Amino acid sequence: MKHVYLAPSRRLGISLGVSPIPFKTCSYSCVYCQLGRTTRKSVERKSYFSREKILAEVEDALNKLSIAPDHITFVGEGEPTLSKDLGWLIEKTKDSGIPVAVITNGSLIFREDVASELTNADVVIPSLDAASERVFKRINRPHPSLRLYEIIEGIEKFSREFSGKLYIEVMLVKDYNDSSDEIMRIRETIERIDPDGVYLMTPIRPPCEDVRPSERIEEAGIAFKAFNVIKPEHGEFHPELYSSAEEALRSILQRHPLREEQAMRVLRHFNAEKKILEHIAEKIEFDSRVYYRLKLD
Ligand code: SF4
Repeated sequence: MKHVYLAPSRRLGISLGVSPIPFKTCSYSCVYCQLGRTTRKSVERKSYFSREKILAEVEDALNKLSIAPDHITFVGEGEPTLSKDLGWLIEKTKDSGIPVAVITNGSLIFREDVASELTNADVVIPSLDAASERVFKRINRPHPSLRLYEIIEGIEKFSREFSGKLYIEVMLVKDYNDSSDEIMRIRETIERIDPDGVYLMTPIRPPCEDVRPSERIEEAGIAFKAFNVIKPEHGEFHPELYSSAEEALRSILQRHPLREEQAMRVLRHFNAEKKILEHIAEKIEFDSRVYYRLKLD
């Protein structure tokens, strides 16, 4: 399974994640990104893989699974709207009858082609980590062609026209976007966008760079009228989708670090030895928990 994996999601329940773009291909290079710095920063939409192969993987995964996921979620090892095939894939996967969600950094929604493709999804979750250009550049390190005001206008327009559910996701990072002024600016921007809800996060899994969870999360949560989602996920990563422990661990770790107990559950499923995990992942501590993170080249 190259493009598809099943994971419990803090936002969408059991979610069949589909990544239509290559690893670390994104229009941003966020300081908190769990994939490390973006290696291919781009705003050019392309067909990166065979869309038929991606669709076949989704169908195969749905056949193999013992449970029906709550959502099929386009998410990326980067930014999913950079895939030119996103609209086609949303349309085709909707035939399964399972609601389709897209988790996006929102940077390209101002483009008509992207907005029009996203209107077919049931749920769209764009990020909004900043409401001032200076903070935007510092926390998201965007492609030089991107302007925050244009991105915000695009999300506002999309919100007015979209008939599905639109949630805004804010990642609050200590000393980056958690000043009182920025929190107030983000709140005003959210009010203008008028989404169906706000997910407020702070780094709870270890990012690659030295960033810390914000201590002002409660204050921001009240300001944004956010759902409370800052807690580790519960649930399984469904290793039955894979043929070996190494394949399962690589596939999951490529998207995000695993807590130690989650990694151990995958090993137990395959009756595999811990050295497989130690070969591909490094052990790290973050916020008093032990995690395994894929070793980066
Ligand atoms: S938008 Fe997402 S994938 Fe892109 S750099 Fe930021 S966190 Fe990483």
